[in-house]
Amino acid sequence: MPKKRSPSETWYKNIRPIIWKRDGEKCVNCSTCISLSECHIDHILSGLKGSNKFSNLRTLCPRCHVLRSDNNHRGMIQSALGKNLIVADWRKFVWDEKEY
Ligand SMILES: [Zn+2]
Repeated sequence: MPKKRSPSETWYKNIRPIIWKRDGEKCVNCSTCISLSECHIDHILSGLKGSNKFSNLRTLCPRCHVLRSDNNHRGMIQSALGKNLIVADWRKFVWDEKEY
């Protein structure tokens, strides 16, 4: 599929490196060092309340990103299990500062 120019281009070229550097090139949850290509930039508040403001963004490793206790992320669980990124009893490792 051809890629068209879109806000996601700005996202990948500009926003991701800034957040990753700000967070010390590490996952903010588990402090694992992570490369720019592997890091996940997470919206602290996702959905309607979320924004692309830098204060709403943080660097996570793929594992912590999947394991956030945010229902918007549940779709990633199956693929993460398939890649052995997370273990079968992943529910024990779910984290987040928010209460649901
Ligand atoms: Zn992590």
